[in-house]
Formats: sequence, structure tokens, C-alpha cells
Amino acid sequence: MGYAYDYQLLIRHILEYGVNYAPKQEIVYRDLHRYTYKDLYNRVHRLANALEELGVKKGTRIGVLEWDSHRYLECYFAIPCMGAVLHTVNVRLSPEDILYTIQHAEDEVILVYKDFVPLMESLRSKLPKVKHYIVMTDDKMPETNLTDLEYEEMIKKASKDYEFPEFSENTMATLSYTTGTTGRPKGVWFTHRKLVLHTLSGCIAMTGIRSPLRLKDDKEVYMPLTPMFHVHAWGIPYMMWLMGIKHVYPGRYEPMMIVKLVLSEGVTYTHCVPTILQMIVDNLPEGFKFNGWKMLIGGAKLPEGLAKRAREKGIYTMAAYGMSETCPALTGAFVKPHLLDLPMEDMLKMSVKTGIPFPLVYVRVVHDDFKDVEKNEKDMGEIVVRAPWLTDGYLNDEEKTKELWAGGWLHTGDIAVMDSEGYVTIVDRLKDVIKSGGEWISSLTLENLLSLHPKVKEAAVVGVPDEKWGERPLAVVVPMNENLSEEELRNHLLKFVEQGVITKWAVPDKFIFVRELPRTSVGKIDKKNIRKMVAESFKK
Ligand code: AMP
Repeated sequence: MGYAYDYQLLIRHILEYGVNYAPKQEIVYRDLHRYTYKDLYNRVHRLANALEELGVKKGTRIGVLEWDSHRYLECYFAIPCMGAVLHTVNVRLSPEDILYTIQHAEDEVILVYKDFVPLMESLRSKLPKVKHYIVMTDDKMPETNLTDLEYEEMIKKASKDYEFPEFSENTMATLSYTTGTTGRPKGVWFTHRKLVLHTLSGCIAMTGIRSPLRLKDDKEVYMPLTPMFHVHAWGIPYMMWLMGIKHVYPGRYEPMMIVKLVLSEGVTYTHCVPTILQMIVDNLPEGFKFNGWKMLIGGAKLPEGLAKRAREKGIYTMAAYGMSETCPALTGAFVKPHLLDLPMEDMLKMSVKTGIPFPLVYVRVVHDDFKDVEKNEKDMGEIVVRAPWLTDGYLNDEEKTKELWAGGWLHTGDIAVMDSEGYVTIVDRLKDVIKSGGEWISSLTLENLLSLHPKVKEAAVVGVPDEKWGERPLAVVVPMNENLSEEELRNHLLKFVEQGVITKWAVPDKFIFVRELPRTSVGKIDKKNIRKMVAESFKK
């Protein structure tokens, strides 16, 4: 006993594998930089040397404020591989919340893209624990009294020879904060072991499991359109690196730059929230069509109407589900082999379901007493999950951790139904579901049905207080440019009442038309703000 090498699942092994397999593969940043995997590998080692020189040690927490870039990818590797902790700061939070997360994370070093330098200058006096700031920029160093350290200069000066240390796979690798709209953001963290297993499962799901998005070969080209601060871009950069696939990073999201990169670099695979897909579909010139761009859509329900419109523009979509607490992969609308022959229309319906688990994930939908729901697409319960990569808990918050893990299953707070094949469909957040006269009305189902109306661009449904029924649904609708009336929408929904898809109680009493919907820091529809907006409009 004790002779064998005690192999630890470290992110370093992902880094090593990718560069050995595909040293000449490319990493592209906007129309500015083009590196090979080998160049990036060397830059990762240079960054580690530079950080070590600043005093970074095992356990040092390092905050990064940056758009999606090759530099961020370098941080994804260098920081955890040194044994330090990568805190992916959500730059879309309010300044107070950004301050709170950096303080709470106890960051000692901050890497900051030039756009966020003024913000850090304003917060600096409240961050005595931060010893160093390093500015990242695409051109010259901005004028600032924050620091004179510049990322590219540091990389240039540092040696590429660096030996990443061995340590326990249970070492914290990354730290990020929930983007929830209630209370302060909560810290969630992942170890090397969790990230490595998450990466392996994701690679199998993308290549070995049937789906409209299955990767064909290493000629695929990857571009994230999920901010890299949002649960490490869903862990997908690690998966793509392991598979030796070309990466294209768009920097700050600008529609023209995105379309240009997709066309010039031949991007085939992207992931984003529905809002980004909506933005792309809405801004394409009449008659324009992509040549089969695959898009994994997560973070919120993918409305069927949007999936259809995207398909017409040559974009293939599939829904996936996860949350900050879960690394995030939980389920995807993968296709079980015996369902492959379904007609096109049914396939589309299936591709917007929340889906079936990624390899190694257990998903249950349960009632309060932990009894599983009936698999009849009607019986609703909460999704609870187990997987090797779920967060152990919220940083320094035992009470919330205990609630999260009550009964040994991670509680997602998402209400769902299950079909006879085991496909899950989320119908609401526990806190968003509309409780009307003893019945639960699903806001997501209503939003989905409204999205199928040809004159509806987007819709959000919330519950509003009602003396008689407790709550009643109200729909806030963004119309396409034509005139759209309440009556048209009511008649549209009544068709689904006739088909038994929804009950007549689910049809909203009131529809409000707006030009756009409020969004959260990661681009999801912000229901809390919509409720506020609606309450104010009632007061008037
Ligand atoms: P976040 O922690 O910000 O990533 O948010 C996670 C939450 O987003 C989940 O708990 C769900 O409520 C929602 N969500 C993520 N993916 C989906 C999906 N495919 N369908 C519906 N809701 C989703």
C-alpha cells in the first residue's frame, strides 16, 4: 500500500493536456491578437512568475475585472494553478456590491481592465487589504494614480519557466458571487477537483451525447458570449482548451465586432443567455443567414418563439440549465438515442426543455416531503441535485449553506415538472411562481406561449397582488414594431386554454406594453424590477 502516485485532479492537467495535444491551435482576441496554444501556455507561466514576484502565494485571493479576453483565460489557468484563488469579479454589479464582493473575498491583488480603472480608483480607499493593482489594456497605459503595474509589461519581463506546484485537489480554485436580485451577493467557490470533473463531463456531453449542438471535430471554433465572470463562463473555456479547439474572445460585447468575428474567424459554437441571442437575431440585416452557428442557451428559459426565429437565421439552439452554485452544468436538452426520429417540430419543442442531466449529475424534482413528482408534466416540485462539482457552500455563511444543502441535496429553488422520459422543464423560480386561488401559475410557461405570437419580441409575466385570488398574472410585453392589442394576446393564449396547455385562470387579466425589459447584471429578465415597475404604474 502507498506505492502508487496519488494523482490529484488539478486544473494544471487540463492546461498541460490541451497544449500537448494542440500546440498550434489558435486563441484570437478581437481583431487585435492571435496567439497559439503554445504562446498562451508560455504567457500563463510568465504571468505566474510575475504574480509570484508580487508575493502571491498559495491561497492568495486575486480579483479580476475584465471583459471576455485571452488575458482572462490566462488568469483562469495561472492563478488557480499556482494554488491561488481566482475571484471573477462581476463588473456589472453596482459599485457598492463590487466593493462588498472584493472585501468579502479578501482579495489582495486586483487585475483590472482599463475601463474599470476609474471605478477602482474610487473604491481604493475602502480596500486596505489590496496590496497591488495591475492594469490590463489593449493600448497604452491609462493615466492613473492607482498603480504603475501594467499586465503586458509584466508578462514581457517575466520568465516563461515556472513549475506549477502540486497540492491537494480539494484546494479552492475559483470564487464568484451569485447574481441574485435579493440581498447581498453570496460567495460560491469551487475546488480543482470539482472543476476538472465538471470539464470532463462537459466534454463528454458536447461530443459524445446526441444534441443539436454536438461538436463534430476540432475544426469547430468557439467564442463565449457569457461574461467570463459568470460562473467561469460556464466552465466552457476549460472544456474547449482540453479538446484543442480554437478560441475567439470578443472583449466588450459590441454587436458589430461579434458578427465580424463570427464571420471572419468562422465561429461555430457559442453560449449565452437568451437576451444576447435576442439582441443578435434582432440586429441582423433582412435576409441574412449564418451557416449553422451553434448556441447553447442557459441562465434563463429559452423561449420557443426565439429559438424558431434564431433557426430561420441559421442559428441552432439548445437549452441548458445550471446556476452559480452548481459550477454550473446540471442539465441540457440532449436527445436520448431512441428519440432521434422525432419530427422536426417536436425536436424544436424538446430543444427548449430544461433537459436531462449531464454525465454524473442526479436530478430529482420533489415535493416538500422529498417525494418525487409524477412524471406527467403537470405535477410540480423543486429541483434538487447532486453532482461531484456542486459548491460545498456559501463562503462564510453557514446558515445559508445549511438551507442550500438541506437533506443532503442541493436545493435549486427552481420549480419544475418532469415528462415520462425524465426530461425536466422549469416552470418558475420558487419565488416567482404565481399563486392564484390555490393554483400555481407558471410565469415561464406563459412567457413561452406569448413568445410564439408573431408580433411579440419578448414577454415577462409576474404575479400582482389581488384581494380575491391572492395573486393574478400580469404580462409585460415588448412588441415587434407593429401595433399589438391586449385582445390579440388574450385570444392567442385562449387557443392554448382550448388545447389544455394552460388553464383559463392562467390567462393574464392585464397586459402592459413596454419598449424594453429591465435586466440583471448577467442580462436576465429582472423580475424584481418588473414587479416594482408594475407596482409604480398601479400607483399612478
Ligand atoms: P445564476 O446563478 O445567476 O446562474 O442563476 C441560476 C438560475 O437561472 C437558476 O436557478 C434558474 O432559475 C435560472 N436558469 C438557468 N438556466 C435555466 C434554464 N435553462 N431554464 C430556466 N431557468 C434557468
